[in-house]
Order: sequence, then C-alpha cells, then structure tokens
Amino acid sequence: MSTPPALASAKAVRTPPAAAWEDRGWIGIPDSTYFRAAAYHLKRRSAPTAAAVTGTRAAAALASSAAMRPDAGDDVDLTIPPAFNLQGAKLSAISQATAYQAIRERQTTPPRTRTDRRLAATRLDLHEFTKRLATDATIWRACRSSDIRAPVQQFIFCALHRSQKIGEHWSSIPGYQDRAFCPACGDTIESMEHILFQCDDLGSTTIWTLAKSLWPHGQENWPRDKLGIVLASGCLTTHTQPRAARPAGLPSTGALPQPSDDGALHLLRILISESAYLIWVLRCERVISEHQHTATTITTRWTNTINDRLHTDQLNASRLIRTSTAVIRAQQTWVGTLASESQLPGDWPKSHEVLVGIRAPRIPT
Ligand SMILES: [Zn+2]
Repeated sequence: MSTPPALASAKAVRTPPAAAWEDRGWIGIPDSTYFRAAAYHLKRRSAPTAAAVTGTRAAAALASSAAMRPDAGDDVDLTIPPAFNLQGAKLSAISQATAYQAIRERQTTPPRTRTDRRLAATRLDLHEFTKRLATDATIWRACRSSDIRAPVQQFIFCALHRSQKIGEHWSSIPGYQDRAFCPACGDTIESMEHILFQCDDLGSTTIWTLAKSLWPHGQENWPRDKLGIVLASGCLTTHTQPRAARPAGLPSTGALPQPSDDGALHLLRILISESAYLIWVLRCERVISEHQHTATTITTRWTNTINDRLHTDQLNASRLIRTSTAVIRAQQTWVGTLASESQLPGDWPKSHEVLVGIRAPRIPT
C-alpha cells in the first residue's frame, strides 16, 4: 500500500513522542485510543503544526482532566480511516519487554464482579472501624499478614473470591438445590455472613462471646460483627487508642507493661481471624460428619486455639527469635488476658519453662 499524501506530509512534522509511540504500536501508552485519534487529526492537516510538542503535552493534560470528569458523556468521534490506522509495531522499535507487554495487553481478564463486590463491601466495613479507606492491594496484602496463620490466610483468600461452595453455588445446579440451605438451621440460604455471625446453631454466638470476653481493651475498641472485618483482619488498625488494661488485682505499678497499639492490634487480629476460622471449621465438620458440637466442646476448642497462638509467641520470644522486641511484643499482646497474671514474672516470654495460658473462659449460656 502506498503512503497516503496526507501521511507523507505529516512525517516531516511528527513530534518525537508521537512518532515513537506510533513506531512501537502504541504499546503501553495509557489512553492510546484518544492519542491515536488526535494523531490522525493532526496528520490530516496539510500545514505544519509548529506547536506539536506543546500540543502533545496539552492533549495529555486534557485527557487526564477529562478522565476525572464525573460526566464523561461527551460523544467524541474516535474513528480513524483504515488508511491512517497503522497496525502493529516496527520490529526495530520494540524490545523483548515491549513485546511481552503487548501480549499482556491483548490478554483479556475475565470480569470478577463477585470478587470486586466483596472487596468493595470489605472496604466499607473496614472504613467504619478504622476511618480509613483501604485499597484492594492493601486488602490482598492483609491476606498474607504474619499475624494470620497459613490455613486462616487460605480461608480468607477463598472467602474474598467467594470460592467456598456454599449457598448460591448450589442454587443453580439441578438436583443439588437442597445444599444451598444452611445445614444447621435449615431455613436460610447459606452465606458466609450467615455462618460467621447469624447462625446460632453453628456456635458463632458462643465463639464471639468468648473472643469479646478475653479482649482487655474495652468493648468500644472491638469492631462490629461484619464479614469485612474478618476478611481484612490482617490490616485492622484502631482509630482510638486502646485503653490501658489492668487486670483486676494487679497493682498499677506491676511488672507487666501497658498495652501498646502494636500488641493490642496483634491480639485483635489473632482473636478475630482465629475465631472466624474456628466457626468455619466447626461448620464444615457439621456438614461432613453431621456432628453437633456442644457449648463445652466449642469453648474448649476455642481456648486451645488461642492458647496455641500464645505459646507460639512465647516460643518465638524464648527460643526462635530471641530478641527483646519479640519479648516486649509478646508481653504487650497478651497483657490482661492471662491466668494468674499478677503472679507471673514480668519477663515470662523469655522462658519457655514458664507455663502460661489465657484465663479460663466462662461457657456462655
Ligand atoms: Zn443457619
């Protein structure tokens, strides 16, 4: 195909950025649809465009400001005649990285509306407690928080993707619609919110009562029962300072440190993530073995779970990490939660021979 006259005359005045973009096939150029249309209209001009560089920058500024407008409803003709709509990139102008970027751009990502909706709901639940709007990246990173155990991380990751086979998953499968209903109460379509917070028959009320009763920093610093709080438990922060916890009977000048933000948040993330995961595990056990757990069993399982986390922190401080930071963090995390706390040596995390455990919970009736 011969070069159109208009394009030939435009070659002499092509600006370096636009020429480079065109040579590399507009790969990796944001809003390239608009710039390609603008380049076409510039090429159509027979007269030289003297302010081309300035125009390119101005076009970029205009494109940015237009993208921020709430009423992006202007009809702009972006069609380019085939003779001017050059396809592909010059082999001499692309690198391996550019070619790989082109492949990535041509791959279509399937829409993840279910995941996106859950991320948005998680963000709102988190904002209600922390007064900060977390990005999607922050929520995904929180899945891998070191405060969360690996199996709990996996549970949260799947819940964010809504990939657990519960409720609506079965509603559209002929012959399996019965499985959509809650296996415990039987009269509600199952959902993660129902399992974790609404179904009394699955023991969620018992477990959350236990968690709140151990939390020593005041109920005003405990978040509301929301699914988003569980899914973003790895990035929970408080907007108020946790108040100083002093267990009953402990003198104000006792050896134990005051709780810090860091220790209190570590405890909050442990209590919320472990409690939610235990409810999920109990629910799965009930589905698989049809075993109904008593309040005593649930209380014992929850106490053992939290004690395991306490002993992990003690093990890190006394044998594995062995730094004063790990010792202080363990002290600050568990202050106000331990049995016979006033009789413990102040540096209990340093010695793994010191037997520690959370104070015995009362079984909720
Ligand atoms: Zn139920």
